[in-house]
Amino acid sequence: MITTKNDKPNVVIIGGSYVGNKVVDEITPKVYKTHNVVLIEKNSHFRHLFAFPRIPVVPGFEHKAFIPYTQPGSTDVSAFFASVNAATTSTAEAVEGYTPLPSDSIQIVHAAATAILPDKVILGNGKDTIPYDFLVLATGTGRPGPDGLLGQDKEAGVKIGKFHQENVKKAKNIVIVGGGAYGIQMATDLKTHEPTKSKHVTVIHSRPHLLNRFHEGLHEITLTKCKELGIDVVLGKRVVIPEGGFPLETTDEEFDVHLVGGGLVRGDLVMLCTGAVPLSEPLRTLAPTAIDKNGFIHVKTTLQIDAPGISNVFALGDVADTGAHKAARPAIVQAGVVARNIEKILQARASGQIQPEKFDDYNADAAGIHLSLGLNESLKFRNPTAENPNPTIMWDESGSQKSDAGCSKVWALRAPWAGKDSYHL
Ligand SMILES: Cc1cc2nc3c(=O)[nH]c(=O)nc-3n(C[C@H](O)[C@H](O)[C@H](O)COP(=O)(O)OP(=O)(O)OC[C@H]3O[C@@H](n4cnc5c(N)ncnc54)[C@H](O)[C@@H]3O)c2cc1C
Repeated sequence: MITTKNDKPNVVIIGGSYVGNKVVDEITPKVYKTHNVVLIEKNSHFRHLFAFPRIPVVPGFEHKAFIPYTQPGSTDVSAFFASVNAATTSTAEAVEGYTPLPSDSIQIVHAAATAILPDKVILGNGKDTIPYDFLVLATGTGRPGPDGLLGQDKEAGVKIGKFHQENVKKAKNIVIVGGGAYGIQMATDLKTHEPTKSKHVTVIHSRPHLLNRFHEGLHEITLTKCKELGIDVVLGKRVVIPEGGFPLETTDEEFDVHLVGGGLVRGDLVMLCTGAVPLSEPLRTLAPTAIDKNGFIHVKTTLQIDAPGISNVFALGDVADTGAHKAARPAIVQAGVVARNIEKILQARASGQIQPEKFDDYNADAAGIHLSLGLNESLKFRNPTAENPNPTIMWDESGSQKSDAGCSKVWALRAPWAGKDSYHL
């Protein structure tokens, strides 16, 4: 069993990405007097995924997309959650009467959670366990099968980024499979970054509309931009994935990329930008019926998992079927709901009740996205709502785009101790 720093019961959060981190931010001030907060994360560093489509295209900032949870040689994760747990941030100092939380309020365990039992989480091959009083699943999405449980260190992540950069550099004719945000951002970066501008780029998308999870207004904006940049777009066609996959490296000769139902596109490098699968598998041991056929976790509006007799396990973010669009922004609201509901259960227990009289409910908002269309243009797009039948479109000021896709901002927020020379840590 992994020991915590004191004998308090644990609130365990699995997944230290945008959503799990936000849960830690929200829950710690509410429970630290009675509970430890334990974050289980399989990767060595927080990965700023928003930057990932740009890494294969623009070399030199890939290391900035991996942000350490702790300072070198330290296991103290409190600075990462500084906005709630340290007195050194300006936010903290600005709050009158602010008392910093004890630095041992939060602990991070770098391991893969492989199974969940009613009272504990099993790590890795089963040798280590972590008991929990409350459990929050924010495991997001990733590669299918056992690969989804493999953690990655920064060195390996940076190496993969550089490998893609080398291949993009060599390629003349790049085929991007997937016209969602990932594929579109990569394609438009390729056609606006000076060294890659001259490459031929094709985007193949299986649906009739690009970014089809959004109102078709976004498809129109995106398609117009693709045409303007000279990107070929093939809509409503699936690619035939060859046995063994497409070559990972740029080939000397172009090859055929076949389309289901006929037709082909030629290319010398294929970049797969298709969706990942929900990483809900560890929950199967505890609540198999709470996992739907696609792997998403059924949740109630309280964000408790929808499984009879279980009230202390929550799920949110990309892994959960919350009705929200899969993005970091709505999950930030979800994190608040989870934290308040755990607090309510604790208050109910303290007054001798089994359940609180009323829980907080999560109501999904209209889907929205902050999308870059190349290095110099970006917009915020929100689907119509009951009050507003038209989509909301807000173009960012030209020149306000960050070439590192916001990595420096995340470092400033999550690693406030780090200077610019720390980006390789
Ligand atoms: C290229 C790209 C660009 C995007 N741009 C935007 C954007 O501009 N705005 C926006 O709001 N959203 C954006 N998104 C979507 C956003 O990144 C996701 O919605 C968000 O990452 C979901 O967060 P999450 O914490 O639920 O899951 P994830 O980010 O997938 O994180 C899950 C975490 O859990 C860990 N984990 C999983 N299983 C286990 C396990 N068994 N044990 C231990 N750890 C585990 C993983 O290592 C990972 O750190 C983008 C996504 C991509 C891919």
